[in-house]
Amino acid sequence: PHDLPRAEGATPAMAQWFAAKAAHPDALVFFRMGDFFELFFADAVTAGEALGLAVSHRGEHGGRPVPMAGVPVHAMEAYLARLIRRGFRVAICEQMETPEAAKARKAPAVRREVVRVVTPATVTEESLLEGARPSWLLALAPEGGERVGAAWLDVSTGQVCTESLAAAELGALLARLEPAEVLAPEALAAGDALTPLGGTVREVAPPRDGGRVAAEAWGVASLAAFGAFTEGEAAALAMALDYVRATSGGTLPRLAPPECRGGEGTLRMDAATRRSLEILKAERGGKDCLLGAVDRTLTAAGARELAARLAMPLAEAEPVAARHDAVAFLLAADAVRGALREALRGAPDMARALGRLSVERFFPRDLAALRDGLARAEAMRDAIAGAEGVPPVPPLLSHAAEALVPQGSPRAELARALAAELPARLEEGGVVGPGYDGELDALRRLRDDARGAILALQMDLAQAWGVASLKIRHHQQLGFLAEVPSAAGETLLRAKPAPGPMAPVHRQSMASAHRFTCGALSDLDRKLSQARDEAARREAAVVRHLRKLCLEAAPGIAAAARAMAELDVHAASAELAAGGGWCRPEMTERPDFCVAQGRHPVVEAALRRSRGPAFVPNDADLSPGRRLCLLTGPNMAGKSTYLRQNALMVVLAQAGLYVPAESARIGLVDRLFSRVGTADDIAGGRSTFMVEMSETAAVLNQAGPRSFVVLDEVGRGTATWDGLAIAWAVLEALHDRLRSRTLFATHFHELTALAGKLPELAPAAMKVREHRGQVVFQHLVGPGASERSWGLHVARLAGVPREVVGRAEVVLASLEERARGLDPLSGELPLFAAAPAPRPQPPVEEDPLRAALEGLDPDAMAPREALEALYRLKSLL
Ligand code: ADP
Repeated sequence: PHDLPRAEGATPAMAQWFAAKAAHPDALVFFRMGDFFELFFADAVTAGEALGLAVSHRGEHGGRPVPMAGVPVHAMEAYLARLIRRGFRVAICEQMETPEAAKARKAPAVRREVVRVVTPATVTEESLLEGARPSWLLALAPEGGERVGAAWLDVSTGQVCTESLAAAELGALLARLEPAEVLAPEALAAGDALTPLGGTVREVAPPRDGGRVAAEAWGVASLAAFGAFTEGEAAALAMALDYVRATSGGTLPRLAPPECRGGEGTLRMDAATRRSLEILKAERGGKDCLLGAVDRTLTAAGARELAARLAMPLAEAEPVAARHDAVAFLLAADAVRGALREALRGAPDMARALGRLSVERFFPRDLAALRDGLARAEAMRDAIAGAEGVPPVPPLLSHAAEALVPQGSPRAELARALAAELPARLEEGGVVGPGYDGELDALRRLRDDARGAILALQMDLAQAWGVASLKIRHHQQLGFLAEVPSAAGETLLRAKPAPGPMAPVHRQSMASAHRFTCGALSDLDRKLSQARDEAARREAAVVRHLRKLCLEAAPGIAAAARAMAELDVHAASAELAAGGGWCRPEMTERPDFCVAQGRHPVVEAALRRSRGPAFVPNDADLSPGRRLCLLTGPNMAGKSTYLRQNALMVVLAQAGLYVPAESARIGLVDRLFSRVGTADDIAGGRSTFMVEMSETAAVLNQAGPRSFVVLDEVGRGTATWDGLAIAWAVLEALHDRLRSRTLFATHFHELTALAGKLPELAPAAMKVREHRGQVVFQHLVGPGASERSWGLHVARLAGVPREVVGRAEVVLASLEERARGLDPLSGELPLFAAAPAPRPQPPVEEDPLRAALEGLDPDAMAPREALEALYRLKSLL
């Protein structure tokens, strides 16, 4: 909050500014003054810095000059975009009347009001939105029993969802939605889950009667009309609605009925899992994510839908199979897929155009977007209708086809009404083409006639005034005037013309010309501007009518837009599969997981791009009887890639896509946990090990027999024996108690000893070999345990001095000797006995060679002594 100067003594306009600023202290106030939006005081300085604007001064206030910066109205969107992206909020204070109207009512200043507050989650302008991402406003309201009601909506598309969830799952929800703004009461806003979001969180108290507020917004008696909403969900809905209303000057955009999204039937993934799998975005350093690697959609709405599916895969057999059916059909039916994609390519974003129309901040191209979008939707419907036959069109596709052509579609009307070439803005005129509205055509004819008449008058005046070079020109302030060269003008000025409609009346003298008007010209001028105004008014009325038609059909259009997005996803998935190497996963209700020749789509794509070696496919089998895979192998051998690729297999399959493998049988997974490389992301000052352990704890507390777990290097963040002990116990818990399908990568080779004790544990190792003094990673997973000396081997190859490696070998052997005495399987010294196991110390025996070497001082030796010393050393070997 800036130090605001006091408002006393302000001019009338500045008093309005103070009022606007007081109502929106946390926003930059864009204050409309004619053709500019001006910023004052600290706002001017802040925006000046953020936008690189010159800050000047305007008048004085309280004896000091007032800093001021301005942006032209026509360029405002670009400036807004930059401010919003940098986290600012902007209050738009508009002129609500013309200066003439203000003068007429003797007001000291034009009336101004804040018509809208632009915030990251309430923008609708194309340039401020990311096409492929929804822009969620998320509201949270606590409800009893450690639960939270959540509601999120996208103002730009009108989509609204709610969910009631355990407070502990808030982090997962935030990771899934990545909201642009969050509203939450103080207690929640200050909590662990929300603090990392920083400035995007706003403190808002939940209303008491949320259900009623929300029901009124949709014009229904009770929210129950749309489903069973908890009190918290209703309160959160009301918070979001109030906020949107407050930022858009009291109106609400068109909003679809709220969808209740109980997490039931979906694959649960927590925030750490999403981070680890890089589903929608890459983490630090990387630039590729799963979405990027599999996205073949052709529209922004399709990309949003695909992202939503990957962010929230399903967990029930039927809906997953329905999606796979759709992909399978489109994969086989090349022609249908081709026709759909042809229609989708370059199709406009109807959902967002509709959103802009509903808030009256729209452009001619938004009307065109509906016209063209609906035309393409019809083409898609025809493509699917044409495919009726054998095999039958799967239900998901036929349902989508039905939705593509809405009842009362305004397409034909828009096609007839809109001009072939549209202006960028409504005010420019020419939105409605000829032949649609008789009255508009007549007014335009009048306007054109007046233009023609002025041209004709130019010839008449030239003759009457005897000045052949006379030109009628239009001037911004003075209207139409006849311009004649100076000499001719002087003559006219001196002449005493007879009064009449053509008599010259002098208006202006300039260096080289004189400007005149006459009765006839003024008449025509008036007629022309009247006709022009009336034509503009009539056109505005026609546009209003068109907008109304669109809004009346809005639910149908929104459904068509949705259907297009879904078809885009299905066709894109089929397109991806058509490239080869992808298969339809067989989904079962048993805890199966059997993948043949699976690949990691992101790593594979990266290798291909860099023209590196080909990706090596790998099998995975976690079928009952071998549910736990214990994977060993040195660093860089491909362990994490293998772990992630199998977790991604689950995400892709349950999102309804094909998977990158030769074949795959996957039992439906209820919860997916991935802890690969996440502990490196230190959160909130906790130590790496603390993060690792709390993430491991989350797995152990939530995973079950239908879950899928991939764990990498559990216990690496602490001392060896602590780490080994923890990894050991976690592995046992997963095997005996949780019974999840698990891939467990470790560098603790000691763990392979568990293979004999845990019947469902199957050891596997990354194959590595040596070739001409180089370690070659084959990226191949094979059965059995990894050879243990790879660390020393790599050290040698890396050029660590021979004697150091030799010494390490001695220490290793000795350690192993002692470790054998600690064999937890021997039953004598169980690793987890109540008494702490004695810690082995590396043997530190005296080395005579080293001692002798240390005793030498080469600088003090004669050559002969040096030679003798060398012989002595050699004898010590
Ligand atoms: P680790 O987890 O064992 O340290 P990574 O999984 O990070 O190893 O893999 C290291 C690198 O090896 C990757 O960046 C990738 O370039 C390459 N790689 C991994 N798996 C494969 C594979 N199956 N085929 C080809 N290259 C691979």
